[in-house]
Amino acid sequence: MGRLVMKFGGTSVANLDRIRNVALHVKREVDAGHDVAVVVSAMAGKTNELVEWCRDASPMHDAREYDAVVASGEQVTSGLLAIALQAIGIQARSWQGWQIPILTSDAHASARILEIDGTELISRFKERKEVAVIAGFQGINRESGRITTLGRGGSDTSAVAIAAAIHADRCDIYTDVDGVYTTDPRVVLKARRLDRIAFEDMLELASQGAKVLQVRSVELGMVHNMPIFVRSSFDKPEDIDPHGTPPGTLICSEEEIMESHVVTGIAFSKDEAQISVRQIEDKPGVAASIFGPLADANINVDMIVQNVSEDGKTTDLTFTVPASDYNRARDTISSAKGKIGYARLDSATDVAKVSVIGSGMRSHAGVAAQAFGALAARNINIRAITTSEIKFSVLIDAAYTELAVRTLHTLYGLDQA
Ligand code: ASP
Ligand code: MG
Repeated sequence: MGRLVMKFGGTSVANLDRIRNVALHVKREVDAGHDVAVVVSAMAGKTNELVEWCRDASPMHDAREYDAVVASGEQVTSGLLAIALQAIGIQARSWQGWQIPILTSDAHASARILEIDGTELISRFKERKEVAVIAGFQGINRESGRITTLGRGGSDTSAVAIAAAIHADRCDIYTDVDGVYTTDPRVVLKARRLDRIAFEDMLELASQGAKVLQVRSVELGMVHNMPIFVRSSFDKPEDIDPHGTPPGTLICSEEEIMESHVVTGIAFSKDEAQISVRQIEDKPGVAASIFGPLADANINVDMIVQNVSEDGKTTDLTFTVPASDYNRARDTISSAKGKIGYARLDSATDVAKVSVIGSGMRSHAGVAAQAFGALAARNINIRAITTSEIKFSVLIDAAYTELAVRTLHTLYGLDQA
């Protein structure tokens, strides 16, 4: 007997039929003798609708009221799932974030979980065999007493945090894909599902554009060493053996991974924009004059390249920002033109970042160099490069994204046999 968190995303609870199907998945684990806490998202599309309503009500709305509105989607699904469980004879009770409570910071719309007291949930497992059905995505700030939300995709993070708080053996994330793949299978048909992936690699994959899990949930899993199992909610509940190993991907610590490839996976993101500040005087303080104002404007700069300008005397600085911040970034640089002193601002939004990830890179030299050669052979021009211990990224024209991803996937031996 063990203790499990089962998290179901929006498509898995999209309507009453699907909620009943979720109830059967839960029943299977309860019947197998496990203590179960379920974490649910809002019905598919619901949160988007609620966000839109806030924008319509007023574009400059109060973030506390935004949270009061958008947290409601999960309140509905947690209550409905508790009803569906009771209807098939399973003891169940719904829980909103404030009832547990899930204490968070006061950063409304992107709050961080600070503390969860799991005692009451655990005692109910013991005393009444009661399933806890918990609204994901939300919590409460102790000082203000207001409802908070954790940022889009935040139910994943709720689930892992709850798993840690109740000392679960594992956190199962049921979703519309059956695991984590070496890259997006819609782009590369030969993408393979990974049986296991280390927290660190998953963290990079998620940060670099793989959309399976909220990044923060992987961070929490790593901190608490809580194994996270990504699996499909479309498998028929009756086909699954609760004691067997279902298809899926286990995100776990590196020590628990036997087979190790140098490269684990390839992520890509088209939500990038490139800005090049041309012909700046090459002297101390130039970078600060550019990146200082961007930081003050809360704009995240990712890749940075500095090179000699075409005149051979001055320097060019190229960097990338999220596409959503592109206009603000351009405006910020233009307003600081007097201080920076540049000749021209060039920019491009039709760019993509392709990232190759693998903790195996730590012990292998020349992994990135192979990629540069392979991309050159395909005539794909690299606009910028960044590297870190277990990852490197290249910025290329967006039109070549698929070709680049496929080329690298083959190059590093990730293609399915
Ligand atoms: N319902 C929230 C969202 O759509 C949280 C989640 O689904 O993880 O972002
Ligand atoms: Mg999600």
